[in-house]
Amino acid sequence: MSTKSANNIQDLQFFGEFGGVNPSISDSATFTFMAAKTMQDTFEGETEGCYLYSRHTSPSNLYLSQALAAMEGTESANVASSGMGAITSTIMQLCKTGDHIVSSRTIYGGTYAFMKNFLPRLDIQTSFVDITNLESVENSINENTKMIYCETVSNPLLEVANIAELSKIAKKHNLPLVVDNTFSPLIVNPQDLGATITIHSLTKFINGTNDAVGGVVCASNDFINSLKDVNDGAAMLYGPVMDSLRAASILKNMRTLPIRIKQHSKNALYLAENFEKDGLKVVYPGLKSHKDHELFNSMRNEEFGFGGLLTVDVGSLAKANQLMELMQDRNLGYLAVSLGFYKTLFSAPGSSTSSEIPEEEQNEMGLSDGIIRFSIGLDHDIERTYNEMKKCMEELEILSATVC
Ligand code: PLP
Repeated sequence: MSTKSANNIQDLQFFGEFGGVNPSISDSATFTFMAAKTMQDTFEGETEGCYLYSRHTSPSNLYLSQALAAMEGTESANVASSGMGAITSTIMQLCKTGDHIVSSRTIYGGTYAFMKNFLPRLDIQTSFVDITNLESVENSINENTKMIYCETVSNPLLEVANIAELSKIAKKHNLPLVVDNTFSPLIVNPQDLGATITIHSLTKFINGTNDAVGGVVCASNDFINSLKDVNDGAAMLYGPVMDSLRAASILKNMRTLPIRIKQHSKNALYLAENFEKDGLKVVYPGLKSHKDHELFNSMRNEEFGFGGLLTVDVGSLAKANQLMELMQDRNLGYLAVSLGFYKTLFSAPGSSTSSEIPEEEQNEMGLSDGIIRFSIGLDHDIERTYNEMKKCMEELEILSATVC
């Protein structure tokens, strides 16, 4: 795996008006045309360098989109006001009434709820499968299937999708493989492994400062133009448009993504290894005990590690809640959903981000209610954090106290 994605971020060169080192922020919802004919041409298709209306595209959104396309190695990209805005508009562009989706069953709860509860209103059905079982993925494809959907590293169970093999199945059946790479930007490049469309929630690692919600679809020129089409583009017509000011701030934060990802991964590996040694039930793709460790190892850009997410099963929801409250009290992180922040965030997914998934399905997929999902922060001294977390676990008798 190459490091070209990180180099492509380094190589971005956008000059602002008056020679600024940051591109100028566009502060207009609409744009003038010097000639009426150019406006007409723009409505009818692409007129190079012309902006129509900011729901379609603004200069600031285009800068961020170009940066993300460069990072993912796609021809084009389109930013959205949220990760869900990117996911739902992609699905609506690919599927119509009567169609069918094959999706991993371990995906972000909002995406799951959209497929499970919302799409049936339009008679679009989804088969939720164990994405690590390639045979069951292929067997679930039928004549109405329009896409295969997965997350590189799944939320919250941290299962790893074999993108290269899934892509072979998708190609064989002439289907797009849509991959949500939110948990592993730079670590995995889904396009290199054969994905057709790569999606991110920018809210997480890519922005990294938890002050904005955003999403992106990275794909071919044809697909991105179809999303933005004034007549039948799902992004244009549903309108999940990112604000230009936000696009400008996310672009600035994105430049430090390579160093942040390295630190998140380094800290997460340290905690995962030590918690495991202490006898806790830890799931982290960087641990040899993780069932997809070898696969993930073969898919990743080594220098970015194994990512910042890990889970620990402390046995019950009551214990999980006590521990999270205590850790927050001790200023070790925040009891909050989301991920990719400078400070550690923890939540119990069974009762929060994955609560859309019915209990019985949670049980079937191994999502027990004592699981805490940690998004490990950029802590400078992770050994100190580990010792403090361990003390909390000992106080709550999740770990037996160390006898000196
Ligand atoms: N994809 C994944 C893997 C997520 O974890 C989330 C949110 O938690 C989303 C998509 C949705 O993104 P957003 O909250 O930006 O709409």
